Amino acid sequence: MILALAGGVGGSKLARGLAACLAPSDLTVVVNTGDDFRHLGLWVSPDLDTVVYALAGLANRETGWGLAGETWHFMEALGRLGGETWFRLGDRDLATHVERTRRLDAGATLSEVTAALCAAFGVAHRVVPMSDQPVATVVHTDEGPLPFQHYFVRRRCVPAVRAVEHAGAHSARPSPAFAAALDDPRLRAIVVAPSNPLLSIGPILAVGGVRDAIAGARVPVVAVSPIVGGEAVKGPAAKILRELGHAASAATIATLYAGVADGLVVDERDRALCRTVEAAGLRVCVADTLMTDAQREAGLAQVVLAFAAELAEARGGRASA
Ligand code: GDP
Repeated sequence: MILALAGGVGGSKLARGLAACLAPSDLTVVVNTGDDFRHLGLWVSPDLDTVVYALAGLANRETGWGLAGETWHFMEALGRLGGETWFRLGDRDLATHVERTRRLDAGATLSEVTAALCAAFGVAHRVVPMSDQPVATVVHTDEGPLPFQHYFVRRRCVPAVRAVEHAGAHSARPSPAFAAALDDPRLRAIVVAPSNPLLSIGPILAVGGVRDAIAGARVPVVAVSPIVGGEAVKGPAAKILRELGHAASAATIATLYAGVADGLVVDERDRALCRTVEAAGLRVCVADTLMTDAQREAGLAQVVLAFAAELAEARGGRASA
């Protein structure tokens, strides 16, 4: 059994690759909910939806979020009324948020709602929220504190980031399926997807007890760098790292994950950084990490699984020596 930690765009691509290689009972994808927010009266869980749509084969590959073939009549109509249109909700996507909100208001947990949505979309692999308690990522910027979506979508990541806060994370608990996966005797590896380390993986690690549980896991923890050749493949990861005083580099990813991950997969373009990654205490694996199609997603997933198996073997050797 493999436990994967994921955000949206980068997370969903590796999740899709892992799902292509593993049986449904052998994969649990834990998804960041620090981006979740109430908007237009609806509960929106952007990263969960991105991963579920990806595994359902319904994702929009161009944007990396939302549904393929989406229409926007609702947004157009809302704009005509003078409503809030800065956060785009497609017509079909809207149904997901309406149904999630209805079920949550009726007393279901986010885990229960997510399981129901997965079943409805025909997603057989387990996709679960990091927690059933609300955790809100707040981005502290030179313009003051901004709720995550206001920073990310409304202000298009323009304000300079000073710090990232995960409000509520400390008192939140891992969701039941997340906790069960961490304790599962069948667990073979924990995979950290090439998601934003501060905005997507940071909130998951901040949930009460999670960082310690993963740092102390008896199985290898393998991360994939979202920084390739000194830039993010998509999104503000490189910009934020620089604003926080780090170099935008796979070596910085190694530093951020030191003590949590045992190994880091870096891109071929970053081969020269291997020594620096090892100096941070992580084993390193070099691969083509650009997931531009389904074949490359599955190919990278296989590399990650083989690397994890190699690290497990090395641990076993040490344990019996
Ligand atoms: P978000 O929540 O939608 O921002 O998505 P994530 O945090 O899951 O993913 C964003 C990160 O994924 C960015 O830092 C990207 O650089 C990284 N990313 C996206 N696609 C790829 C890819 O094909 N390969 C690698 N290595 N990183 C990727």
